[in-house]
Amino acid sequence: MDFKDSIRVIPDFPQPGISFKDITTLLKDGAKYRAAIDELKALVAHLEIDIIAGPEARGFVVGAPLAYALGVGFVPIRKSGKLPYATIEVGYDLEYGKDTLAVHTDAIQPGQKVLIADDLLATGGTIATSVSLVEQLGGQVVGAAFLIELTALAGRNKLSDIEVVTLLTYE
Ligand code: IMP
Repeated sequence: MDFKDSIRVIPDFPQPGISFKDITTLLKDGAKYRAAIDELKALVAHLEIDIIAGPEARGFVVGAPLAYALGVGFVPIRKSGKLPYATIEVGYDLEYGKDTLAVHTDAIQPGQKVLIADDLLATGGTIATSVSLVEQLGGQVVGAAFLIELTALAGRNKLSDIEVVTLLTYE
């Protein structure tokens, strides 16, 4: 299926020079959304996955339905201050700006095989931070799944030991 048709590209958002890939146009199309999750499921079918972790907010939109489809649990990785129980936190640089991500200390058991999911791989900072959080909890990251990869930003290079699967690429 051609998913690129369903992505809206917004120039200069959220700041000049950024070409924002808007997935809301894909999400509102039920058949396309389901097909995208089904296709990601097929791309990770060879991996042994105990649990999926995804960074807020769009990582939930990809990771949670994928977890449901695979019959595994889902761990929300959130911005600092949002999770109610004890957390560990890691700071990172974004394509635009800086942020801190957090996860509950009991979200992942040591030795669990974890797939990380998000909507888009840009510089890789968000996912590298998610990997760091999972590994600090003793989880083993077996892969990372995205709807979109911005290849020019080479985020994949930050994830060199991890299998990366994506539905769509943009330069
Ligand atoms: P990275 O950390 O530089 O890889 O940026 C990826 C994160 O920023 C993801 O969580 C995305 O949701 C968000 N992001 C960056 N660029 C875009 C975009 O063009 N469209 C949608 N999300 C984006």
